[in-house]
Amino acid sequence: MATLRIAVGAMELRKKSAKDVMTKIDDVFMLSEDQVLNAETMLKISDSGYSRIPVYEQNNRNKVKSLLYVSDLALIGKDNNITVRAVAGFNKRKLRIIDENMPLIALLEEFKLGDYHLAMVAQSHDYEKTNNVKFVANHLDHFLANSLKVVEATAELLPPLDPENDMTITLVGLVTLEDITEELLQSEITDE
Ligand code: ADP
Repeated sequence: MATLRIAVGAMELRKKSAKDVMTKIDDVFMLSEDQVLNAETMLKISDSGYSRIPVYEQNNRNKVKSLLYVSDLALIGKDNNITVRAVAGFNKRKLRIIDENMPLIALLEEFKLGDYHLAMVAQSHDYEKTNNVKFVANHLDHFLANSLKVVEATAELLPPLDPENDMTITLVGLVTLEDITEELLQSEITDE
């Protein structure tokens, strides 16, 4: 029965895209880069329960520029009044922004490469505006034929947006490996 569920889940991965499984932007726990990592902020972070936190600038939740890993906070004394900007800038965690229509099977291939297991999701028309989209479902057969080659092709067709220089994007969500795994297993994973 479990095998059948996974087989069905695997088929779903081909049909579904990032926007179908992402956490919607309004529900994403983020921090402003200006926020001071004092006891109150640390408590908020700890209460959120998340291990990776998008960091935005200029008081604008659409301008996510970096990621803060909670593990990066292990050596920070909460009385030092260090800003989120300082910690995120020091650790420089990779931020990947993907198109909301990116098929889950392609995203899984990217995640399998291991550089990151979380991506911010941008509205599709933003990619069209920036000439980055020529992509999606018609490349699926390719994916199945040779997934590694396809990941390269995907990267070519959909270069990561540069959050520094591209102000046209509209963020609509966040997706992690766990969202894809849940889809694959066809059930919710209960976090520890
Ligand atoms: P974590 O390691 O932080 O528990 P997971 O990768 O296990 O994160 O994801 C669990 C769920 O939480 C997924 O549905 C994912 O989209 C969501 N999620 C991850 N990080 C955040 C965040 N900063 N804000 C809101 N939701 C998040």
